[in-house]
Amino acid sequence: MHKSRLDFLRRYMETICPTGFEEEAARVWREEAEKFADRTWVDQHGNAFAVVHEQGSPRIMLAGHADEIGLMVTHIDENGYLFFTGLGGWDLQVLPGQRVRIRTKDGIVLGAIGRKPIHLLQEEERKKVVKMEELWIDIGAKDKQEAEKLVDIGDPAVLDYGYAELRNDLVVARGFDDRIGAFVVLEAARLAAKMKPKAAIYAVATTQEEIGVRGATTSAYGIDPQVGIAVDVGFATDTPGMGEEKKRTGDIKMGHGPIVTRGPNVNTPLYKRIVETAKAKSIPVQIHAYPRPTGTDGRAIQTTRAGVATAVLGVPNRYMHSPVEVVHLEDVENCAKLIAETIAGIDGKASFLPS
Ligand SMILES: [Zn+2]
Repeated sequence: MHKSRLDFLRRYMETICPTGFEEEAARVWREEAEKFADRTWVDQHGNAFAVVHEQGSPRIMLAGHADEIGLMVTHIDENGYLFFTGLGGWDLQVLPGQRVRIRTKDGIVLGAIGRKPIHLLQEEERKKVVKMEELWIDIGAKDKQEAEKLVDIGDPAVLDYGYAELRNDLVVARGFDDRIGAFVVLEAARLAAKMKPKAAIYAVATTQEEIGVRGATTSAYGIDPQVGIAVDVGFATDTPGMGEEKKRTGDIKMGHGPIVTRGPNVNTPLYKRIVETAKAKSIPVQIHAYPRPTGTDGRAIQTTRAGVATAVLGVPNRYMHSPVEVVHLEDVENCAKLIAETIAGIDGKASFLPS
């Protein structure tokens, strides 16, 4: 990946963007979009938009959700310990023993998620998965009064993990689900802008996907697109313990190309166009069959207004909804390239009627 792209990716991944609190990431994404888009804006729901060739036809919406799963402070006790709830779906086994960054009115406050030491747990307690109410955040405050000066009820937090490189183009970060999708759609719009597109291309970093594709619902209504492509992370099955899972999810490997979903959530002519473009441009893809509305922005986009020709693409991902989500940089680039090449070939005459 080119250095300027990597720099932006790193900067974007360092933002704190839990569901419902996406403004910091929206700012960084828009700054980057300003470099090539006709115009950028945010709506009252926090969705960030960048449009290329706005007068074109049809209108194509590219969506990647900017929000990540996080935590939110619900209660401060007499001793200054903070209790919290999840923003989005956590595997509770991940939380004990983590450091957190709480975003407060005065900036970041560091904390540690505490639990009774294993030596003091009863035999039965050791066997059970911990409940969220049995965990707390320790910010080092001496009492409630001091904690309340620093932290407000409702402040969001994320686990204290940043972006890092592993090897062989594999990178690890908190929040690749799905800032990598928001990165891909912006990159796709940037590439498509150079290809003299006939269509109007709206890239959107959507909000609140993790609690029910809410930003995609409102932004798709606002854009009123004829074509929509959602980009999210998809399950790689090339790790230990995935033997049985391959029968359901398919044989999805890191570095073997973006995932193209096929099923009722996807418009068949658009699907065919994507797969044919991949073949023509020698972009590797992996097909994923899914029999229901997907758990992505594509679910909302497809059923907006009178219906939108929708596709769902995935960046293969290991360890989803953990602070060590892994993606492959080549898959990221190929996903953006595949979208750009596909939409560059769509003009006002393209039909997406099933036939
Ligand atoms: Zn996601």
